[in-house]
Order: sequence, then structure tokens, then C-alpha cells
Amino acid sequence: MDRLRHTDIKFLRGIGPKRAELLEKNLGIRTYYDMLYHFPTHYVDRTKIRTISEFQGEEMPSVQVRGRFVSLAVQGEGAKQRLVGLFTDRTGTMEIVWFQRVRYLREHYRTATDYVVFGKPTRFNGKWSMVHPEIDPPSTPLAHEGFRGVYPLTEQLRNRGFSSRSFASSAMEIIGGIRTLNETLPEHIIQRYNLLDLRSALYAIHSPQNMAILDRARLRLKFEELFYLQLDIQRYARRRSSSTQGFRFARIGQFFNNFYSQFLPFPLTGAQKRVIKEIRADMGTGRQMNRLLQGDVGSGKTLVALLTMLIALDNGYQACLMAPTEILATQHFETIREMVAPMGVNVKLLTGSTRKKERDEIDAQLMDGSLHILIGTHAVIEDRVRFRNLGYIVIDEQHRFGVAQRARLWTKNVIAPHVLVMTATPIPRTLAMTVYGDLDVSVIDELPPGRKPVQTLLRYDENRLATYQGIARQLKMGRQVYIVYPLINENEKLDLRSLEEGYEDICEIYRDYRVAYVHGKLKPEEKDYQMSIFASGEAQILVSTTVIEVGVNVPNATTMLIENAERFGLSQLHQLRGRVGRGDGQSYCILMTKRKIAKDTRKRLELMTATTDGFAIAEADMQMRGPGDIEGTMQSGIPFDLHIADLAHDGQIVQMARDAACDVLDADPDLASPANAVLLRQLASLNSRIKDWSKIS
Ligand code: ADP
Ligand code: MG
Repeated sequence: MDRLRHTDIKFLRGIGPKRAELLEKNLGIRTYYDMLYHFPTHYVDRTKIRTISEFQGEEMPSVQVRGRFVSLAVQGEGAKQRLVGLFTDRTGTMEIVWFQRVRYLREHYRTATDYVVFGKPTRFNGKWSMVHPEIDPPSTPLAHEGFRGVYPLTEQLRNRGFSSRSFASSAMEIIGGIRTLNETLPEHIIQRYNLLDLRSALYAIHSPQNMAILDRARLRLKFEELFYLQLDIQRYARRRSSSTQGFRFARIGQFFNNFYSQFLPFPLTGAQKRVIKEIRADMGTGRQMNRLLQGDVGSGKTLVALLTMLIALDNGYQACLMAPTEILATQHFETIREMVAPMGVNVKLLTGSTRKKERDEIDAQLMDGSLHILIGTHAVIEDRVRFRNLGYIVIDEQHRFGVAQRARLWTKNVIAPHVLVMTATPIPRTLAMTVYGDLDVSVIDELPPGRKPVQTLLRYDENRLATYQGIARQLKMGRQVYIVYPLINENEKLDLRSLEEGYEDICEIYRDYRVAYVHGKLKPEEKDYQMSIFASGEAQILVSTTVIEVGVNVPNATTMLIENAERFGLSQLHQLRGRVGRGDGQSYCILMTKRKIAKDTRKRLELMTATTDGFAIAEADMQMRGPGDIEGTMQSGIPFDLHIADLAHDGQIVQMARDAACDVLDADPDLASPANAVLLRQLASLNSRIKDWSKIS
């Protein structure tokens, strides 16, 4: 491999310095290695010979035909000059046309000789023709056998005579020219997973004889990429968990037991119980916990947070709960204080708008240890906030926090506190395994009993009247309603205006009701006030932007109307919808949009009406947009570039690669055995480009 990486592409036959320069400029191909790992994006079938009589319609996909030229003639003058060949395969005739290198080609091709031509037939004036096809005598090995790779190329390269075929032959040239291509996976893995060896895989990816071998080649190369990715992540994770000392929460005591027996507002779901057990076990090992808690909106994560914080208290430590918005922090604070105040647990709220006097009191109580649980926004991780003995941090709705913010939590103590990251953005498994590969994961996969799934309806502007009437019926039943407008930074002014107009309309239409009004630009006090009148039921309608997206809990709100629903992403819609369906009444989510929307958008909205399963939605979101766009997850990035594997579509291979990596590390944690020497070598070479994974969470 090293030789490949260090040999300049200009030394390859048929390339030379000029073409090498073009390759580097256009595709970043500098070495043999780069060329070899520049893979086709798709393949055309060259196993079949078609006949001209089979051609249909006005345009055909690329086909190959075998036959002879009846005539070859130069036509036109100057720039218009072209070479026209009349080509027949006995079933019919077509014209083959060249606009370049006319004189040369006139001499080059002969009549009465067999050729295989490959190109795209088009019909014009009742005649079929092909422009600039690939053309070979039938004896050429690259012609009419197997599948031909189509490579990503640029216009400039194409104009300078590079073609998919020249890429394929360069790759073949490299493979043919090296006597030993060092295998990059250990033999035991190749055996165990029945993988192609590297040389065969590279050969087949550039020039597959059939689909079966191409599939095996792809599998081998994807597996390899994902395997090294997983090996790397797992190695970091293991090293960290064995080396990072944590507090041992050995006991369950008064706080937990009292709460559990006397104050628990409802029986826990099976999933909540299981997750609490997992967390408890993890916090008892003496190693620092780093755990991701995934649970769909409304699955009851808050209660899990509270119960596990009580375990910290039982062991003499303080706990901290951090939320991404002031509204959410306040809501957590109120819910939790109400539940635990009777037990004498001291809970306080710290946000950007906490007054100086209150702050001073919090600071003092944090230091003397009389404050048990601190709840707040980012304010809780500011440097000036000092705890006496912080043992446990819960971060709610993780995707709103950047990596840097999470990393800061480490600096608060000599021994890192246990960390639980809670997210309602269901991260598809394969992505979680990669992006959060070094976190342990707990999943709440069950909703509290009695919930009726939210009914989601797609409505157009012309249905507005009926929609408003439906909302009026809910209001008459004593229910509350959310009306959501997009507020997206790019045209904030415009959005704000439509929000304000919407608010005025709503006030007008529902005169008998009180309408609260929230958006991100309001002063915190005003926002809190508006939220509080909605939460208490004084206001029946809340007109807002997505500031309510995360976490807000008003079980009596049964209807949500989302305006311009086409402007929201799938995951965001799912989060929003999670605000309703929290009580026992039937809830509705109405996606309002204009009639004319793009096909993809319609697909997205229709998926929302079809399912309430957050994981299915996240999976679909990833399929549609690719993993890079899943909100927030890519802040931490993936350490290696993936050439061929695709996290959105290769879930099974990710799983296989992860299992393989874990098995290797179980058997040989330091990769010290000679059979694994190749692993260390490969990791070292990949790692020259890696970021630090150990501090991601
Ligand atoms: P999320 O996981 O979205 O943060 P919450 O913790 O806000 O969900 O819980 C959603 C609602 O479900 C709250 O009203 C909460 O009181 C209620 N809840 C939580 N656990 C249970 C349970 N085991 N049984 C019944 N209701 C529950
Ligand atoms: Mg929540």
C-alpha cells in the first residue's frame, strides 16, 4: 500500500506529467493509490449485444451493437466538419457521427471489419444515430464483456480525452503492474466473513465480469472502511472506559426509595424500569458513565432523569440537569420541584435571566452542598458555577448542544461526573453506532399506557375554513391548541411578519378565547409569561414559532396546526408533533401547505401522516437527506472519509463491521498478535487524519 501511496501518477503508462496535472487539479488524484481508489459510481451492462431492430421510441439507454460500416464519409466544412459512418448489424442501420478528430478517424476505421459499438441511440427524422460511441474491434478484452464502470469525471477531463474507459484501463494497469498488493485486512477476518481478497476486489470494482463478483467486491471494500472506523471508535471507547475513573454510586437510599414508594405519580413503564436499571448498574461500576438515552417524544425521559438523579443524591452527590432553552429548563424545574419538594430535596433553577440575588444564593448553596439538584440552561456550565461535589449530569435534548459544550462538563471535577445525554431525536441505529459509537445507549421503546397515536392530516390552503372549524370544536370541548409558524433565519423579517399577521387573524377568528404568543425574539420574561398562561390554561391557543419544539408539556393541548409545513424537516415536524398526544384525548396534527409542492416535500409530509414512529421517521429522513444532514449529529463528525460505504444505506454492513471489530478487540485488546499487525499499520495510516474521539461526550 505504501508504495501505491507514494508513487506519482505521472509514472503510469499513458499519463505523463501533463495529464497528471489535470488529474490532480480536477479530481485530486495524485498517486497510484488515489487512482485505484477512485471508484465508478455505477456500471453499464456490456454483457449483452443488442440489435438495431430492437431500438424503440425516440431515445434509448446506452446499448452495444455488433456490426460493420457500410460507408464512412467526411461531411461539411470547417468547424461544421463531421465524420458520418453508416453502420449495419444486418437487422437495421444507424448513423454514427463524430465531430472531433474527423480526419484521423476516417483513416482509422475501416469498412468490412467487425466492430462493437457502445453508445446511446437517438432517433431523428426517422433515423437512428449514435454520437461519439465507444468503438472496438470485437477482440479487445475491454469490449463487450462484463460491466463497464462509469467514473465521476469533469468536463475538462472529458474534453482532454479522459473517459470512463481510460480510468478503468489505468486502474487495470496499476493492478497488473504491482506484483504484491499488500492485503489490508487480516487473513482471519477474510476467512471468517468470506470476503474477497484485496486484489480481486479492486480488480472487480473497476472491471466486473458479472454482478455477483461486483457485489462481493463492493461488500469487501465497504466492510473494510466500516471495519476500520468501528475498530478505531471501539478502541477509544474501551481505552477510555477502562482508564476514566468515575464515582461509584453503590447504594440506593432514602431519596430514591421514598420517592419510589410515596411520590411516584404513576407506575413506570417497563422500558423506564429497564433503562433505570441499566443506568444504575453503569453508575455502580466505578467507571465513569457516558450514556445516550434515546426515547421518542413523550416516552417519559424526565422521570428517568429524576429517579437517577436521586441515586446520585443517595450517594452524597449533587446532580445537574441541563436543558437547551429557558422555557424547557423552567418547565423541568417546575415539574421536578413539585414532585420532590415534599421530600425535602432542594432544587433550584439557573438560567441567563436569574437575578443576581438568586444567583448568589445558588452559588453559596452549591458550594456548601445544601443544593441537591441544579436545573438550568447553558448557564449551569459557565466557568463561574462551582459545585461542591457534582456527581451526575443529565443533558436533555442533546442535539441542541454542541460538542464543545459537552466537553466543558469534564472540567468541572477532578473525577468526571457521570453523564446521561437524553435525546428525542431518534438517531438511526447505524448512525448512532458510528457517531456515538463510544457511548453506551439505552432506549425507551415504549410509550406510557393510554396514549392514542396523534392523527396527522395534510391540508391545503383551500381547506382552511374547515380546519378552523375543527379547531373551534376542540376549543369548545375545553382543549388547547398550538399554532406553529416557521421562523427560519434567512428571511426572518418576512417570517416574523407572517407570524404577526397569523396571530392577529387567530385573535380575530377565535374572539372568545385568549391567545398566547411566543417567538424567539421576545424578552425572556415576556416569553415566560406567555408560556405560563398557556401552560396554566388561562390561554387556550398558543401561536408560536418552533421555540416550543423541544420538550414543552401541556397534556390538555390536543391540536397542533403547523403552517407552511413544507418548510420543516421530517425530524423537526416529528418533534413539534410530539407536543400533542400527551394526555388521554385524541389528538390531531394538521400540516398546512400550499397545493403545489415538490415531490420530495410531498413524500415527506405524507410519511408524517402515515407514521408516528420516531425511528421510522429518522430512518426515512436519513435515507432522503443522507446522514450528513441529520440534525446535529454530524457536529462530532466521522473520523475517516468514506469512499464507498454509505451510513444511510449500508446498515447491515455497519453492524457486521462493528461485530467484527468487537470480536477482534475482545480476543486481542492491544492488537498485539502478529495476525493483527496489519490492523495497527492500517489504523496508524488512517489515524493521521483523525480527530480526538475520547472527549466527544
Ligand atoms: P419526554 O420523553 O418527551 O421528555 P416526558 O418526560 O415529558 O417525555 O413525559 C411525557 C408525559 O408522560 C408527561 O406528562 C409525563 O408526566 C408522562 N409520563 C411519564 N412517564 C409516565 C408513565 N410511566 N405513565 C404515565 N405517564 C407518564
Ligand atoms: Mg423531554
